[in-house]
Amino acid sequence: MEFAVRAGGIEESVLDRTWNASGFTCFPSSLGARPQTRRLGLAEPDGEHRLLPALVPPDEPPPVQPLRPLIGGDLLETENPFFFRTVLQDTASLIYLPVFQRGTLVYDAIDRKALGPSPNGLSAADRPDNVASWFGYHFTPALCPNCGHDVAGEKESLIVFCQNCVVGFSVSGGKLTEVPLAVGKGGSRTASFLPFWRVRVETEGLPLPRGTGKILPGGRREQMDRDHFHFWVPAFRINPRLFLRLAHRATMAQPAIEPTSLTSLSSVAPITIASVEAVKTVKILLALLSPKDTELLRGLQDRSVKVREHLVVLVPFEQSGYELTNRQIQAAVHVNALKYGRNL
Ligand SMILES: [Zn+2]
Repeated sequence: MEFAVRAGGIEESVLDRTWNASGFTCFPSSLGARPQTRRLGLAEPDGEHRLLPALVPPDEPPPVQPLRPLIGGDLLETENPFFFRTVLQDTASLIYLPVFQRGTLVYDAIDRKALGPSPNGLSAADRPDNVASWFGYHFTPALCPNCGHDVAGEKESLIVFCQNCVVGFSVSGGKLTEVPLAVGKGGSRTASFLPFWRVRVETEGLPLPRGTGKILPGGRREQMDRDHFHFWVPAFRINPRLFLRLAHRATMAQPAIEPTSLTSLSSVAPITIASVEAVKTVKILLALLSPKDTELLRGLQDRSVKVREHLVVLVPFEQSGYELTNRQIQAAVHVNALKYGRNL
């Protein structure tokens, strides 16, 4: 998902980006639409090919250029100035583009077009001895480290749950690491739970919105103090417009939470947005909450957000027909939006 902040509002889109991970500049900087238009297969070591190592880590994509050039460098001269852009990364895959070398040139092996002069070091690149460990499937025992019961999660889920201990674990590097969990208050026995990241950041100097928290008699919201203010971000994939709307509504509502001890985790939507991506959304929320603060919007690009605490909150939604609603957040989600969001 991509969010571009402009003076006229926030533009959302879904994109599939590729970038050159090899470090060799003779290769294209992007594969364009090819990964979507051609069928990709699982890479296997076959002893025939040399594989260049990936030198650029997946969490360091090159910066995206502004959507349109700025006139004379002065933001105010454009009719709808661009301030900054945030890309939330869902899944990163390493794709090998087949190339071959002939003479002094290197060629794309699919369309057989010359890519450019073969760089020094390309012919010397060979398969490292441990290359077999890059391939195939790697299995992690799905057993709770606390009690030995099976942990459960859907295939795209970043966090799996132990129904016995009622705790969540993130899976990384073949290890399960416990993730702090809480449940939003007020759900019925038949509620479905949608996961949100609740993020507390260093708020010094940040313009926090007025009127956040519980709705008081008379319709106004109470004012949450800075130390107890949290940003709320959906932890599941859904179309970007709805993603931002849910984040905005939940941040304005500041829902109350309770421990997970009495709650079954069986009806939770899979957690597919990592905490690091949720933290990136904080800047977008700040832009959404202070749309007229041009000085803030200009400075957000380079501003760092210091995270003080984050946890997963399973927010109860009541299902009626095809709609899931939460009155505290004042938000509704169509079940098909969740279904199609998984494939974004
Ligand atoms: Zn357990």
